[in-house]
This record gives sequence, structure tokens and C-alpha cells, in this order.
Amino acid sequence: MLMTTCNEVAVPDPALLKRFDIPGPRYTSYPTADRFVEAFGEEALGAWLAKRNDAAGPLSLYVHVPFCSTVCYYCACNKVITRDQSQAGPYLDALEREAEMVSAKLGGQRQVEQLHFGGGSPTFLSNDELRRLMAILTARFPLAPRGEFSIEVDPRCTPPDKVVALAELGFNRLSVGVQDFDPDVQRAVNRLQSYEITKETIDAARAHGFKSVNMDLIYGLPKQSRATFARTLDRVLELAPERVALYHYAHLPERFKPQRRIVSEDLPSSPEKMGIMLDAIARLTEAGYQYIGMDHFAKGGDDLARAQQQGRLHRNFQGYSTKPDCDLIGLGVSSISKVGPTYSQNVRELEEYYDRIEHGQMPAARGVLLDMDDLVRRATIMALMCHFEVSKEAIEQAHLIKFDEYFKRELAELKPFEDAGLVENSRDWVTVLPLGKMLVRGIAMVFDAYLRNDERVRRYSKIA
Ligand code: SF4
Repeated sequence: MLMTTCNEVAVPDPALLKRFDIPGPRYTSYPTADRFVEAFGEEALGAWLAKRNDAAGPLSLYVHVPFCSTVCYYCACNKVITRDQSQAGPYLDALEREAEMVSAKLGGQRQVEQLHFGGGSPTFLSNDELRRLMAILTARFPLAPRGEFSIEVDPRCTPPDKVVALAELGFNRLSVGVQDFDPDVQRAVNRLQSYEITKETIDAARAHGFKSVNMDLIYGLPKQSRATFARTLDRVLELAPERVALYHYAHLPERFKPQRRIVSEDLPSSPEKMGIMLDAIARLTEAGYQYIGMDHFAKGGDDLARAQQQGRLHRNFQGYSTKPDCDLIGLGVSSISKVGPTYSQNVRELEEYYDRIEHGQMPAARGVLLDMDDLVRRATIMALMCHFEVSKEAIEQAHLIKFDEYFKRELAELKPFEDAGLVENSRDWVTVLPLGKMLVRGIAMVFDAYLRNDERVRRYSKIA
């Protein structure tokens, strides 16, 4: 059954992967965003922001910058493709008004311990625009002195002087989009980005005090093979990022228009894709990276790896985090907020976003207020995703349930996972065993009440 064992992760063989790699959500939230409803909109978010006005504890802030100057064909993000830099100004104006509305309800006392700029491409903004955006935020939300401030960068529009500007603004973590260094793959996905330009961005970050560099890679892209991806990994390891995210490309051209420009005959076969993934995991773990969970790897000494060892890892919309679970304010088109026991998402279209802001409305379009069952299941699913184990006693004490009774049906459904050596259900714990760690999503899905008899499950991504 085992092919490789490293860092307490055993890589399942292809037969096991095929059987238990069920398409499913990444659980950056529970319930997942596709369960949000229009009945929870601006008014409900406003009420919850006001309720949290005097809440103690830090804040997390996410800002979505939707612009990119060229389209990558694999992309499934919410973005606006434009080379027109003049689009940035009106967007920053709108962000300023949104930040004003939110902070007026929330009050301005809670410190931001975690700030993330995502996109699109936040580095589409010029240095002056980035400075203006930071000024907009700091005027309304005090930043904690030693916070975790991260930004997604596209090296094609992040020359060293922009890295210096980001460092001066207080950013200390960089997430670099790479995907693949192979020129044929890059041409096939319309993302031409040399190793040299990527190295220049990363070198500048290291020279200017960035604590951590993450690199995003994708397997399953057109023209990829085990041999080409091995060369990409050589270069990744030369650059030695502290963290690596290795995502699976899900080819869904009927849902994502840019993917229609990918020639499906160029996609690697399923066995080849699985080979690429298994090779990559073996290379990364041999090189000292720890498998954190769901697509993410971190060097042994990195904060994420330490947080996992110490049981204080959290999962949020950016993946994994070392910061305590806290209210998250999402600003900008399509951003998601998490306030108290609620989630809400802003409108997805730029025009509608501007329209709402112009009319003095917060642009929340959909959301959900979690009920008791959602909260129990979220705690269980997040414990599995972050720590590969759930303490039944901890869930019982926090939610006043009897775990084995409450989850009688789910524990019965875990049986095939147990029989295959992926999970152990003992008196006090549900534990994901080393062989089950790469398949944790399928195990978490057992506890997802929304997936029962749900056709939607077929739309999610698989490992290979
Ligand atoms: S992958 Fe990133 S840079 Fe490329 S189009 Fe999508 S959001 Fe823009």
C-alpha cells in the first residue's frame, strides 16, 4: 500500500488514491461559499459588525485587487483583465468608501494582526497606489506592530523597487505566483515568466527583510510531464521558498472561460498527473518540507510547521494560518468576511460593486449565519484539516454534545476509511493516520451535512 513515508505522511498508492480521492471542497470555510444565500446580505452583515463593535481580540483584513494585465488560461479567480492603469484610481476610491462604512460600524479599536492583499494581482497597483491603499486601511484599522502582513505578487509586475516599497509599507510575507518554469507549459497557459525575473523578486524580498516567501505551483497543466516538472522543482528548490503550495489544475472550461483556450489534448493523462504529484511530494519532503495539509508544504522551522506541531494552526480563505481564529473583514469585489458566527461575500462583478458603493451600501451580496450544527461540524472539520485529529472531549465540552451519538451516522461512514488504514476512531479521538493525510478532504467531507445526496460534489476538484 505504501510508496513513500516521510514527515509522518505516507503517500497512498494509485489504487487507494483512486478509491478515496473524492472530489470535494478545500474547506477554507464551513459551510463552503457555494452555500451562502442572498437572504444574508448588507443588512445582516451591518448588524453583525455593530454587534462585534466591542468584541475583544484582533482582526484579520483581506483586500481583493481584481486587476491583471494578461490572462493566465488556467485561472479560476475573480479578476478583471486590463492594461489600463487608470482603472486603479476609481477602485481605490471605492475601497476607501467601503473601508469607511465597515469601520464606522465595527469601531476602530481592534488591531489588525493579519493583513493580506490578494487578487487578481495586487502588484498591478503602482508603488504610489499601494501606498495610498495602505494609508486608506491604516487610517481606519490600526495595524499591530508585529502583525503578519502578506501579499500575492506576480513577478512580472514586481520589480525590486516595488518589493522595497512593499517592505517599507510593512509587508513581511510574500506569496509568489509561479505555477511552472517550463517555457512550453508557460506558453500553453499564456503566462510567460522567466526564472530570472522570479529570482529577482525573491532576492529583493530577502534583502529587504521579508520573513517568508511562499511559492505557488500547479500540477496538471498542459504540456507538463514528470520530466518537465522535475526540472521546475529543481529551480524551486534552488530558490528555497519557506512555503510551497502545490495545487491541482481542475480543467473545467464550461465554468471558467479562459480555460477554453487550453488545448485539452495537451493535458497530461491521469496517471501522468498522479506521477507528477507523487514525485513532487517526494522531492519536497526529501528537501525538508513538512506536509501541512491540503496542498501546502512548509520548511521544518517555518511558523506554519511549528504552529501545527503546537496545535495552534488555523485554516482560512488564504489556506493555513498561525494566527488565532478571529473576525475577518474582506474588502473589495468578491471578498469574503467572517464576522462572529457568520460568513458573507461581496458582489462578484465590478460594475455592481461600484454601483452599491456609490449608493452608500456595503456590497455584501450573500452569506450565512451558522447554526449550532454548523458550528459543531466546522470545529470538527477544521480540526481534521489543520491537525489531522479531533478530540471528542474538546468538541463535547465546547458544543455540549455527545460526540459518538451526535456523529453516529458519520462514524459509521468512516468505517471504509478505517478499514483501509486511513483513519482511527478510538474512544477519545478521531485520528487521520499517515496514509490518510493526503486524503483528509474525503475524511472531512463525511462530516459535511450539506454534501449529503448532493449533485454539487461532482463539480469539485480532485487530487489527480
Ligand atoms: S492566475 Fe493570477 S495573474 Fe493569472 S489571470 Fe488569474 S489572477 Fe491574474
